[in-house]
Amino acid sequence: MSSCVFCMIARDEIPAKRVLENDAVIAFDDIAPQAPVHVLIIPREHHADLGDHVPAETLRALFEAVPEVAAIKGVEESGYRVIVNNGRDANQTVAHLHVHVIGGKAMSHGMVAFEE
Ligand code: AMP
Ligand code: ZN
Repeated sequence: MSSCVFCMIARDEIPAKRVLENDAVIAFDDIAPQAPVHVLIIPREHHADLGDHVPAETLRALFEAVPEVAAIKGVEESGYRVIVNNGRDANQTVAHLHVHVIGGKAMSHGMVAFEE
């Protein structure tokens, strides 16, 4: 996908602060962090969202990277929240599947905030 911003990051066409990478996935700091630790993990291959024919090994690679990212960022013990915004109602703004890893500060109990 030539115009997809996360494909451009995967191809190293635009900069990102990479946290880890392997054959399947890349993790990088979110450009507008919502917590002291806010990392995005993306598959190198373009899939719009979880419903876009994502191979099982890609899903596995994405989630195997989660605790690795947490360890690198020093939040393995303190904990972190893992979020996938999928589609319109979830406010997915970049149509390239990505996993948010958020931590570094205690979060509120509720996971969901609704639009009025
Ligand atoms: P979502 O709302 O789940 O689609 O999240 C998209 C996330 O991508 C947001 O948290 C943005 O801040 C982040 N983002 C957008 N463009 C970039 C970029 N070039 N580098 C890093 N993060 C980005
Ligand atoms: Zn893409």
